Amino acid sequence: MSTYKYQRVLLKLSGEALMGDQAFGIDPKVPQRLAEEIKPVWEDGVQVAVVVGGGNIFRGIQGAAAGMDRAQGDNMGMLATVINALSLQDCFERNGMDCRVMSAIEMHQVCETYIRRRAIRHLEKGRIVIFAAGTGNPYFTTDTAAALRACEIGAEVLMKATKVDGIYDADPVTHPEATKFDTITYKEVLARDLKVMDATATALCHDNKMPIMVFDMGQNGVFMSALAGENVGTTVIEEDQA
Ligand code: UDP
Repeated sequence: MSTYKYQRVLLKLSGEALMGDQAFGIDPKVPQRLAEEIKPVWEDGVQVAVVVGGGNIFRGIQGAAAGMDRAQGDNMGMLATVINALSLQDCFERNGMDCRVMSAIEMHQVCETYIRRRAIRHLEKGRIVIFAAGTGNPYFTTDTAAALRACEIGAEVLMKATKVDGIYDADPVTHPEATKFDTITYKEVLARDLKVMDATATALCHDNKMPIMVFDMGQNGVFMSALAGENVGTTVIEEDQA
């Protein structure tokens, strides 16, 4: 068994990550790979909570751009995250991993409703908990939901899995000369307007001293290394630690 620095983690997975190489929806290979990445640390007793996005299916802002009422579109976006959460649960269970979905919007025929104490109890009993439907409120994002749930359940770290291996001073896809930060402060993320997470999510983590780690979930074993305390991407830290 590896030695872990963190015993309880909140992992944020974007909806887009579930698309794989597809243009829309869920590529079944992705949940399977995620299950294989998460299973060994879960078997070692690390408590894993997941917040999943919905951008592979619907984003409220897209609806608003097409003339739709923003709140209505956001409700659709939140329902999209439930579809993703159910897909992940199905895959995790097929891999022998105990898992519960808890939705911020009540739909008890489909999954549990989010109750903070109950979520913590699931984690203590060794179940993976997937938080669905974001915060349950329009005008927010699943990054903010991840920051909120991480604080609520007392996670020691918020890990944001992305397609890029950390935080750069410019978009490395369009700016090949961009340099990666090993660590960066919350204030700098906000001041430089680096699109790591939206400002609400970053500010919530800052206010509550929640460390954020950003890394590329596409590398095998990266989740275990991150939990062991290796800096596998970029860590967002307090000013006084910089
Ligand atoms: N959403 C919302 N409130 C929340 C979380 C999400 O209204 O607390 C909606 C919003 O429309 C958002 C969509 O759900 O665009 C999907 O979430 P997000 O864009 O954060 O997903 P990701 O980018 O991680 O795939």
